[in-house]
Amino acid sequence: MVSIIGAGPVGNYLASKLSAEGVKVDVYEEHSKVGVPIACTGILTSYLSDFVKVSEDYVVNKIDRTDVYSPNGSSVSIKLKKNFIVDRTLFDSHFAEVAESNGAKIHVNRKLVSLNNGLMKFQKGRDVRSEVIVGADGPNSVVGRSAGIFGDRNFVVGHQARVKLKEKIDSNVVEFFLNEGNYIGWLVPEDERVVRLGVASHVGTDNYFNELLKKRNGKVLGWQSGVIPVYDPKLKIEKDNVFLVGDAATQVKATTYGGIIPGMHAADVLKDVILNGGSYTKCVKKTIGKSLKTHLHIRKLMNKFSKDDYNELVKLCNKDSVKKLIYEHDREYPKKLLTSLLLKEPRFLKFIRF
Ligand SMILES: Cc1cc2nc3c(=O)[nH]c(=O)nc-3n(C[C@H](O)[C@H](O)[C@H](O)COP(=O)(O)OP(=O)(O)OC[C@H]3O[C@@H](n4cnc5c(N)ncnc54)[C@H](O)[C@@H]3O)c2cc1C
Repeated sequence: MVSIIGAGPVGNYLASKLSAEGVKVDVYEEHSKVGVPIACTGILTSYLSDFVKVSEDYVVNKIDRTDVYSPNGSSVSIKLKKNFIVDRTLFDSHFAEVAESNGAKIHVNRKLVSLNNGLMKFQKGRDVRSEVIVGADGPNSVVGRSAGIFGDRNFVVGHQARVKLKEKIDSNVVEFFLNEGNYIGWLVPEDERVVRLGVASHVGTDNYFNELLKKRNGKVLGWQSGVIPVYDPKLKIEKDNVFLVGDAATQVKATTYGGIIPGMHAADVLKDVILNGGSYTKCVKKTIGKSLKTHLHIRKLMNKFSKDDYNELVKLCNKDSVKKLIYEHDREYPKKLLTSLLLKEPRFLKFIRF
């Protein structure tokens, strides 16, 4: 019997995969409804289709181009392989429904408060004992804390607004805004009028967010905020029969702060370990851990960039040969992209001088 704490995308995806193999799975979610509330932009790279058959049930838009802006306002427009914009409530619910149809049970209004020797205590309802416990309970993981493997993790803060713009825009284009520090801003279209406008940063998130909102003329339809863990390759992600996955295990790309696809990838690894045995830590290191480490290295370099560095970077990316490489290699697994960029355009070496 496997108990998964957290009915987010990663917990539900894992539940759907384990239950498909005939494993008895129970998912415990603190809220009264799966997928509510959410704090997420829901942009997923083309790699989503490596994990699931992409469904129109939750995809609200598809984009195939990005405009990336440097601090001085100059930009580069790059063609992308199809990215999916999902409705997170529908996305999370979709995997919960698949899991349930395979026989898994989803228990809502069940907030885990502590865990001791396989015994789970909830805010309401009876205690439950389980052979295997998975913490898919997000960045502030109670499972991680109770098992003593929460670690000394760092977070960035993300703020986002859903905005109805006054002017129509091209709904096939996602905009990214770069700036010094570990700031990243984005405008992700749902359609020609409604966009998800947000920023993530260690510091000054409120100011950056207000500036970005001011620049775009529109009516705010809703607000969302959340913390995003910074990947820590040294974090313990298992102890005895307890495993952490997704944001609970800090499995988030440190460059763009996207955590859904890495979390699903890690869930596949964990599924195999639960079914066949082996070391989850080692298997993660050999697979998704490698690319998460590359994202972390790139983030550490980016954190040292000045505004001028970003201006120069965007200028360099305007070369057709560079755009082609970015299109071919995608941002999900960046190691090949980096190597190819350095070979094709040695001027990128300047950016690893740090
Ligand atoms: C503003 C913002 C924008 C983002 N945009 C993107 C994006 O565009 N693309 C992308 O890939 N990622 C994005 N992310 C990151 C993404 O949201 C996370 O990586 C993703 O949600 C992680 O999924 P998860 O299932 O691991 O955790 P979560 O989505 O956090 O799910 C955890 C679940 O566990 C439940 N839970 C928590 N504690 C308990 C408890 N004690 N007992 C029971 N249940 C509990 C929660 O209610 C929740 O349902 C964004 C994050 C933010 C903050």
